[in-house]
Amino acid sequence: MSHEARSFAKIVARNLSLTYENAATGSSHTVLDGFDLSVRDGEFLAVLGPSGCGKSTFLSVLAGLVPQTSGEITVDGEPVSAARQKLGVVFQGYALFPWRTVRKNVETGLEIRGVKGAERRSVAEHFLRLVGLIDFADHYPHQLSGGMRQRVAIARALAYGPEILLMDEPFGALDAQTRESLQQELLGIWEQSVKTVVFVTHSIDEAIFLADRVAIMGRAPGRVKEIMTVDLPRPRPASIRHSAAFVALRERAWASLSQELGEQPVPGRVVEKHIEA
Ligand code: ADP
Repeated sequence: MSHEARSFAKIVARNLSLTYENAATGSSHTVLDGFDLSVRDGEFLAVLGPSGCGKSTFLSVLAGLVPQTSGEITVDGEPVSAARQKLGVVFQGYALFPWRTVRKNVETGLEIRGVKGAERRSVAEHFLRLVGLIDFADHYPHQLSGGMRQRVAIARALAYGPEILLMDEPFGALDAQTRESLQQELLGIWEQSVKTVVFVTHSIDEAIFLADRVAIMGRAPGRVKEIMTVDLPRPRPASIRHSAAFVALRERAWASLSQELGEQPVPGRVVEKHIEA
């Protein structure tokens, strides 16, 4: 199946703002302000920005975990509270149940939905095969490496059958090699399934490698300052990172983020892969 993003908007955030009030000190902290974003159905959208700019906060609002202070956010035209069943979430740090086997972890969401044993098992096995872990189905999380645990978390989110996958720095804690191979795997999975993905990262390379479009956030308070279209062909081999088009996009994203960090981009410099505030 070709994975062209369809043109209608799946997720729309309009003039979103979020202010945390601290009752103890009487202070408040505005994290999102004037945040506008539209995500197309079937699109892989990366949200890129320096640490602390509000990326995770946006994802939490989108997941319906934190209510916005003002503005609007909808999934298929409905408030996010009505769309929870459509969302699958993968955060950093795996969050697997240590007392359940890999298979049982992947079955969890289906169990909650009331899917019966045999069907549950076959769906879980399908996704374990997809992430290359079928031979580890009866292992426990502590018997797996970090990369394998994150693959279980991805299989679990996919098994639930969400229309939208929300991912918050899911590969952030992994070594560079594991991270790159999981990025590749994720693209393979995404190309086979018709899903909208919103992927939060502070890595320029990760955002460009994965996404159809990159929403670059400014800081204090957080909002989308630029949308960068990634017109690289798919499927994307690892070597695409060395192509002139990739390097040009990296330079552009770096220039945009440098402004946020108060740095001047230097033409021709070696560009860091990761942005830290
Ligand atoms: P990012 O994901 O871009 O690193 P976050 O969304 O995690 O940024 O955080 C944005 C800002 O919001 C940070 O300054 C953080 O300290 C603040 N923040 C996050 N959660 C809370 C909270 N529950 N109460 C107050 N401030 C918070």
